[in-house]
Amino acid sequence: MLEKILIANRGEIALRILRACKEMGIKTVAVHSQVDRNLMHVRLADESVCIGPNPSPQSYLNIPAIISAMEITDSVGVHPGYGFLAENADFAEQVQKSGFVFIGPDADVIRLMGDKVSAIQAMKKAGVPTVPGSDGPLPDNKERCHQIARDIGYPIIIKAAAGGGGRGMRVCHSEAALYNSIHVTKAEAKAAFGDDTVYMEKFLQTPRHVEIQILSDGQGNAVHLGDRDCSLQRRHQKVLEEAPAPGIPDDVRQATAEACVKACIDIKYRGAGTFEFLYENGKYYFIEMNTRIQVEHPVTEMVTGIDLIKEQIRVCAGEKLSIKQEDIEIKGHAFECRINAEDPKTFMPCPGPVNQFHAPGGLGVRVESHLYSGYQVPPNYDSMIAKIITFGDDRETALSRMRTALDELVIDGIRTNTPLQQDLVRDTAFGEGGVNIHYLEKKLGL
Ligand code: ADP
Repeated sequence: MLEKILIANRGEIALRILRACKEMGIKTVAVHSQVDRNLMHVRLADESVCIGPNPSPQSYLNIPAIISAMEITDSVGVHPGYGFLAENADFAEQVQKSGFVFIGPDADVIRLMGDKVSAIQAMKKAGVPTVPGSDGPLPDNKERCHQIARDIGYPIIIKAAAGGGGRGMRVCHSEAALYNSIHVTKAEAKAAFGDDTVYMEKFLQTPRHVEIQILSDGQGNAVHLGDRDCSLQRRHQKVLEEAPAPGIPDDVRQATAEACVKACIDIKYRGAGTFEFLYENGKYYFIEMNTRIQVEHPVTEMVTGIDLIKEQIRVCAGEKLSIKQEDIEIKGHAFECRINAEDPKTFMPCPGPVNQFHAPGGLGVRVESHLYSGYQVPPNYDSMIAKIITFGDDRETALSRMRTALDELVIDGIRTNTPLQQDLVRDTAFGEGGVNIHYLEKKLGL
């Protein structure tokens, strides 16, 4: 097993990784920007290194600084968490070339899945259902683009192959607007991602966002851990997640999950990963794969009893996957509410001092947060400051625990989106299960 892991991240996920390492007897190195020297996991790590000033390009995205920190601390591996360098193939490659272990898949697998066109092609080959589309980059020929769109049927969506974070996408409703839409998306993609390759997909009007969690060792063994529903989103940002996704027929879920497992074996995927789908009218449509641990991984942990971070570290250290598909049982239901330092109405970030922090508790309640009374939320990074996770034998029990947990939560000094979450867990349609990806924005009047 790896002796020492450097955690190339901050906030709650850094703490989550640190806790897993402690349980596994792995020493930890925290790296942090100047403003982050008082982060909870920095205090708890065996060693810590300041890797630069506050702006992330100079610290958490600073590859040479992170690799130097690995060298001076004799770290053996690096856990990238999510965000920052987690899906940066060049980082994975440099880590490996420097003789360290990257806790994630190989750089070429990150590249394959990072390009949405090649990802879709790899998925099709493995029998994973995809959105009807152009099956590759759009040609430079107006008439052929028109023909592709006609074959798919309007509305369609034009997407950048290199896109991410909800950027580089444009919906088009008619042939009259098509060529201009392609042009604009190409220009945006070039500016944002340095690559103007775009492709076309059928635009699904009222889908849910459902994703499948997998673990794979890159040595021919892979399992799935069921699905999660993350349809409550604002500006493509997930707000509240649950596992399992409610109301999906077992056989449909099973067939899709098995195809995901096959895809992992085909591409020699190593680590934890997520296949993201749109789900509409009883069908799954693959949109992209995330080649890292995700924010919402705890809901899957709660319903499977499996520690995803520990398993991810094990397989990336070269061990064979010890879990068999038949050992995995989905039991009960779990929710996760993301708590952000932001105004609950305007969504403007609200960094500042946390005068008091009181975490909820009780049976079936889990809190993943780096907050403590006296902590200052810096303005430089993502506004998520806590995740409240609840578990119950059934959906209603887990949801009722979430209502109580959110009411117990005290974060004094800054504004948070807790009032929005309190409202959502009492929402009738959400309570019934299965709302689509537009539900939250409609509810908010956006
Ligand atoms: P990103 O990598 O930027 O997150 P995705 O491909 O995951 O991009 O898409 C982000 C979101 O855009 C989806 O969750 C969905 O809301 C919307 N979307 C993407 N493709 C489609 C589609 N074919 N039909 C309808 N909505 C889509």
